[in-house]
Amino acid sequence: MSEEVVDPSHPRYQSLMMRKRISEAGVKGMLADSALIAHGRGEAFDYLLGEQTIPSALEATREVAARLVAAKKPVLSLNGNAIALAAREFLTIASQLGCPIEINIFYRTPQRMGALLAHLKLLNSDLGLDVEILGGIPDAKIPGLEGPRAACQKDGILEADAILVPLEDGDRCEALVAMGKDVLVIDLNPLSRSARRGTVAVVDEVSRVATNLIQLIPEKPEITNWDNDKALQSALDHIVGDMSDKFES
Ligand code: ATP
Repeated sequence: MSEEVVDPSHPRYQSLMMRKRISEAGVKGMLADSALIAHGRGEAFDYLLGEQTIPSALEATREVAARLVAAKKPVLSLNGNAIALAAREFLTIASQLGCPIEINIFYRTPQRMGALLAHLKLLNSDLGLDVEILGGIPDAKIPGLEGPRAACQKDGILEADAILVPLEDGDRCEALVAMGKDVLVIDLNPLSRSARRGTVAVVDEVSRVATNLIQLIPEKPEITNWDNDKALQSALDHIVGDMSDKFES
């Protein structure tokens, strides 16, 4: 797949490029096998959303930007897919906020963690940034979770007051909410437990959200009295709504 050239005139060009990034990250040892399945689930929802940022998702992204900017100790918690799809953008966001990135993967192995750390560190220096990358040496646990999924770093996830969790597993999302944090979810599935349990959920594709956040963070938007259920309902309404809302042709 890494040898394949994606034709920019293809109507699914962006989607195919994302698939290529996931596939290449898999070859580099950055992903568990189940990563492709998780990506496929996201693709299906993105197709139903018309592969676009819908208005309620842009509002949610603005709310996420507001809460990250206002937080005393924000952190970006990234899994393998988020790193494969939008590592450059998340490094830029972390640099804008002056906060760390913590790699937090569901199936933790030293090889995968090493590949992800190496990838982020290389991009960090390519971009001329100095973002702190955590996750390699966990020294704390997320209360209420068992096994390697609970592992985190004290300076990162454990002590953060606002945490951006793209593509987070539902259990971990619930555990972070129970810790009293602002949990800012990115998930294309408006019915996932993460989307429903998070403080703010952006129902949009992770690389589009990251690009929008880079634009919105410098605007320093105000925090609102966010109604997450209303935003999720709006995404569901969009999915089941008029076909003409979804595709231009
Ligand atoms: P939950 O435990 O929260 O109910 P789940 O078991 O469906 O969710 P996983 O399979 O752990 O979740 O993670 C995949 C989630 O990530 C899916 O909800 C999927 O829609 C979402 N997802 C996959 N790719 C992307 C992407 N590129 N952008 C945004 N969301 C994505």
